[in-house]
Amino acid sequence: LSLMEQEAVQVLEKLEQHGYLAFFVGGYVRDSLLGRPIHDIDLTTNALPEQVLHIFPHCIPTGLKHGTVTVMMEHHSFEVTTFRTESEYEQYRRPKKVEYVSRLEDDLRRRDFTMNAMAMNRHLELIDPFGGKKDIEDRLIRSVGNPAERFQEDALRLIRCVRFSANYGFDIEQRTEQALEQCSTLLKYIAMERVQAEWERMMAGPRPWVGLRHLLRHGFIRNLKEELPISPEMWEAVLHPGLEQWLRRLSGSQARWCAVLWTLNCDPMIASEALKILKYPNRFVEETAAVLHVLEQWKTWDGAHEDGIKPFIRWSVRYGREPVLHALSLLEQAPLVFQRKASDSFVQLLHTYGAKVQERLMAVPVQSAADLNVTGKDLITAGIRPGPRMGEILKTLLLQCALGDLPNEREVLLQAAGKWQEQGMQGG
Ligand code: ATP
Ligand code: MG
Repeated sequence: LSLMEQEAVQVLEKLEQHGYLAFFVGGYVRDSLLGRPIHDIDLTTNALPEQVLHIFPHCIPTGLKHGTVTVMMEHHSFEVTTFRTESEYEQYRRPKKVEYVSRLEDDLRRRDFTMNAMAMNRHLELIDPFGGKKDIEDRLIRSVGNPAERFQEDALRLIRCVRFSANYGFDIEQRTEQALEQCSTLLKYIAMERVQAEWERMMAGPRPWVGLRHLLRHGFIRNLKEELPISPEMWEAVLHPGLEQWLRRLSGSQARWCAVLWTLNCDPMIASEALKILKYPNRFVEETAAVLHVLEQWKTWDGAHEDGIKPFIRWSVRYGREPVLHALSLLEQAPLVFQRKASDSFVQLLHTYGAKVQERLMAVPVQSAADLNVTGKDLITAGIRPGPRMGEILKTLLLQCALGDLPNEREVLLQAAGKWQEQGMQGG
């Protein structure tokens, strides 16, 4: 047993010494049967929260409303929850009533899927009233009890079901799967933050395409609380076998989102709107959109008049070096069908410069206006008026320095800026 497991056993022993029943429960039992890595251990007991608080010197009443106390041992802490049932769910999500019960089996019955409804005592003997072990062996996700009723109590279970299927590579048992579809309209009661948390775990997991196909197939996409600006017809593209091949090669949610959105033919603006609705953090949205903007350029780029590494430098000044490099590696790993979305002239450019792009971009001396040896203040002192025109001048200075057309030297930059200012005033 790991140190964490040993400490959990100590918690169980102590509760038993005080005359209570106490067990491992939920995700820990499931993952240890599967031999999967253990992140945390949940425990359950018939001791009431006050009694748990009384027995352990170091604990926090984390969720007294739900019967949960966090017990802190020397190295790890454990959530200890009193046997309970839930009833009278409100808004298809929150149980209105939480009642403590005396039998373990009644606590297990309220849990969502058979594989999550097992317990284990401190001798590691399994308590499995709903056949969770057999379902794990058969690699099946099955609701405890009547699936439609269970999804109606708490609609978050719909998306948990899909996430478990994707991340564990399990099939969904037939009746449970039918109920998914039947109950999908209840998703509109689930906060987008909760949807995002599950969706994100799928995107970061080993089989995001499985999750995406479930979301599409069971009508989840069109029943979200907030509508995405991507139509269900557009989402059909997640069925493309090439996408699975591509996603297998990519790691991390962001690269995978870029691949998915590119596959859906999603314009970068629409893509950022969708990610915002899904409550992704601003930074994630901006970075993803930047990569898609770069890819979008490559779709239509007609470089007949321009060759060399220069186009890449221009893109990196405009969108940032990282997005250009991300877009490149994304396209490199894309199956041919998706690579072909880039224009012929771009593909040609890539063939000539492909391997060198990264090295060359890293060697570009200036990346952003902050790297220039003049500041906006300097320009004002030199007589250039603040305003949009000055922004343009800074951008042009940056581009010219990056391309190597101007040295990054104060005097030279000020002179060039002064010249453009005059030209601008004449030419508008
Ligand atoms: P993971 O931590 O990998 O998400 P988990 O099964 O531990 O998996 P938690 O959200 O930590 O998931 O929940 C712990 C246990 O609580 C679950 O194993 C399950 O028994 C129960 N549970 C969690 N959410 C629900 C729910 N919405 N409906 C019913 N039971 C639930
Ligand atoms: Mg857990």
